[in-house]
This record gives sequence, C-alpha cells and structure tokens, in this order.
Amino acid sequence: MFTRIQAQVLGALGVVVVLGALTLFLVPASEPAPAPVAQPAPEVVDVPEEVPFVTHQVVGTSREGRTIEVYTYGTGTRDILLVGGIHGGYEWNSVLLAYEMMDYFEAHPTAIPADVTVHIVPVLNPDGLAQVVSGEGRFTPDAVRTDVPLGTGRFNAAGVDLNRNFGCKWQPESSWRGTRVSAGTAAFSEPEAAALREYVLAHMPESVVFWHSKAGAVFASECHEGVLPETKTLMQTYADAAGYKPILTFDAYPVTGDAEGWLASIGIPAITVEFHTHESMDWAENLAGVTALLARP
Ligand SMILES: [Zn+2]
Repeated sequence: MFTRIQAQVLGALGVVVVLGALTLFLVPASEPAPAPVAQPAPEVVDVPEEVPFVTHQVVGTSREGRTIEVYTYGTGTRDILLVGGIHGGYEWNSVLLAYEMMDYFEAHPTAIPADVTVHIVPVLNPDGLAQVVSGEGRFTPDAVRTDVPLGTGRFNAAGVDLNRNFGCKWQPESSWRGTRVSAGTAAFSEPEAAALREYVLAHMPESVVFWHSKAGAVFASECHEGVLPETKTLMQTYADAAGYKPILTFDAYPVTGDAEGWLASIGIPAITVEFHTHESMDWAENLAGVTALLARP
C-alpha cells in the first residue's frame, strides 16, 4: 500500500514522463538531438624537459682564443638579442651594461614577459677588450687602463673592425671617422663576426640591439632595401624610452659591412644604441629602452 508521499512522488513522475513524451513528439524530426561530443583519446606525448630560465653557452672563440658567450633569460618565443662590446675596449662601457643587464634579469625574472627570451652577448670582441681591461673575465671600472690612447681596443686581434666585417656592402677597407680601417679579408673572415652570424641564423631573433658609445643616439639600419618599417619602430621605441635621439640614416661617413646592415639584409630589424659617453653605461636610459622593447607586441 502506497503512503501518501509515495503516491505524490509517483504522480509527479507520471507528469514528467508524459511531458517528456510530448516534448519528443513535438520536436520536429529535422532537428535531431545533438550527437554527443566525441572525447579525444588522451594523447601520449613526451613531456619536454623543463627549459631553464637562465642559460649560458659558448658560441665561438676569438682570434686569441677567448670565448664568445651568450646568456639567455626567459623561455618565450620572441627572441631579442642584445650585443655588447663589438668594439671591444674602446667601448668597454657597453660590456659593463651587458653585465648589469644580465644581473638585472637574473634578479628580476618577472621583468621578462612570458612570451620573450632575451639573449645577451656581453662582449663580441673580447680580444679588443683585453687591450684595455686588465685581467680576464668579468671586470669592474677600476680594471680599465687609463694609460692607453682613446681608440685602443676597438679592433680585434687581427686589426679588423668587426662592425665592418659583416655581409652587407662588404669592402676590404672601410672608414671610421676620418680614417681607413681594415674590414677583414672577406665578409665574416673574422671568427667573432662568424660566431654572431651562426647564432643569429640559428635563432632568427625578432630584433637585435648593438650597444656602442658615444653619440647619445639610436640609429636605424639598412642594407639595399632601405630602412625596414619594423626597424623604424624599434628605433623610435628604444629612443623614446631611453631619451636618446633617434637617427634614421647614419651619414657622418660611409660605412660598409656593418652588422646591423647585414641583419637588415636578412629581414631582421637591428639598431645601434650609442651611449652618451665612453665611461657611463647609462643604466636608467638603457633599462628603459630595453624594457620598452620587451613589452612591444
Ligand atoms: Zn662602436
């Protein structure tokens, strides 16, 4: 015998059944019930090894056997390459800036957006640096010799201006201010320039910055096709943030075989950043410039 409550429940169920049947009857045949969404079988994938936030590798050797190193920070797919010391001891402050930037990123990993990897070559011309800085390895300003004439250490151990040894408009001789300088026996004849070329071709960075001194300006670059639109944006972004003067065309004297021009020739925007002096690393200016560059979408 049903209790009253059981009877009420059964009655309610009966109503539901009748309504359900009516619904089925009323739904037109042209609208079939949606097929259940197929659940993909769980994919068996190799779990990738975790990419470390900071890496360090030797990517080449100078003429005198010093290592050329690259440090990377972050794991994103936007690769940004920063290069110090292409002019060695003549521009030792660009090397100090690179070291300072490395320390900063190591201490402040959140300064690097998740989609970015920063690559830093602290010194592309270690032999030239050694002509001005006492001792090997990382240095402080008190290791910089003051008894050498200004201009010492600009070239590599073969007397080549590395920023004339790249593969755009290369000539055996080029100029630096009023003087003739050796550009090597061929484009990329120098191991330092060749090491950078190989690293660039392996990573194809989104943009490249070379640190120099001392014009207090950011220069765009070009090879045969004029300044790339992305290079103009890069120049303006860095110059605005750092407070350096943006200069679209370097025309103080003719330059051949410069690294930035070669990058332009393979479609990679590159800029030359010149600090205000040969001694200061313009830390606040360059940190602002680099930060603006990293944030760029
Ligand atoms: Zn320079």
